[in-house]
Amino acid sequence: MRITVLAGGVGGARFALGLREAAPDAHITVVANVGDDMWLAGVKVCPDLDSLMYALAGVGDTERGWGRAGESERVAGELAAYGVGWPWFTLGDLDLGTHLARTALLRDGATLTEATARLAARWPLGVTLLPVTDDEVPTHVVTDEGILHFEEWWVRTRATAPAHRFVQHGAERARISDAAHAAIAHADVVLVAPSNPVVSIGTIVGIPGVRDALETAAAPVVGVSPIIGGRVVRGMAVTCLEVIGVEPDAAAVAAHYGARSAGGLLDGWLVAEEDAGSLEAIRALGMPAEARPLLLTPGGPAAQVAREALALAAAARP
Ligand code: GDP
Ligand code: CA
Repeated sequence: MRITVLAGGVGGARFALGLREAAPDAHITVVANVGDDMWLAGVKVCPDLDSLMYALAGVGDTERGWGRAGESERVAGELAAYGVGWPWFTLGDLDLGTHLARTALLRDGATLTEATARLAARWPLGVTLLPVTDDEVPTHVVTDEGILHFEEWWVRTRATAPAHRFVQHGAERARISDAAHAAIAHADVVLVAPSNPVVSIGTIVGIPGVRDALETAAAPVVGVSPIIGGRVVRGMAVTCLEVIGVEPDAAAVAAHYGARSAGGLLDGWLVAEEDAGSLEAIRALGMPAEARPLLLTPGGPAAQVAREALALAAAARP
């Protein structure tokens, strides 16, 4: 079975870990958001691809939630002393190794897809990791402080700078990669991870060609809600929903994604058991829905969540 997952960083990684455990014989492809990517201190940083790679490789810092476990920050201290980079965005030494390797590959002419494959080959990930596009499409946030890169708004201002909208800078010139397109077109199941609906899944779907690929995919497309009990699991993502005027509610996010039968994205929507009250409203949108425990704590029942998503997909053939 070929399973393709659309994913952001942390929520995407937790789900991908569960899926790998739940479907050990499947060929899993994770199509990652690249809207958070940036050039910093001369190197190309891809936060979501790295969160996914580190988590699947088992070398991520699960306590901090980002970067490598057992990290040191000697180079970051030197960069700060030179006034280079963003002092509030620490690049750990091991992490810098990843960014340097990626940058070297890109400068030798590799696409981001090829560079990602080269980095991933080092680890026994058990999944194929793909950027959704090889083009640079940074998410910009239009705020009261001016236009900020998403990571500056998210990490430096902690999403407190009043934001008006998100812009996918360069999207008009971007295109879904051939590999990501094939992964969606030839999948038996497409799953939308419980990732940030706006700046992870929204940015993936905003890349020209992605919506078409999903629309014409033969596979059912089933999403897992990133909302539990009317709250995003990690607080700041709610601000992204507020910016685009969507309530932090499982049915509201389902309506935002839309039913595939009505021109939207989804053939099914798995919500948290705490949100079972929303099932009727979601089904009225034209998509099958079930309520299940959806908390993906590390070492927790992530594999069970993945099994439930696959079961819903089997029942929700388009
Ligand atoms: P980021 O790129 O690192 O911000 O991560 P993602 O976009 O992949 O996911 C962030 C979102 O995942 C959070 O805002 C939450 O809504 C969701 N999330 C995080 N942990 C869990 C969990 O345990 N269960 C579910 N259902 N969603 C989660
Ligand atoms: Ca991200």
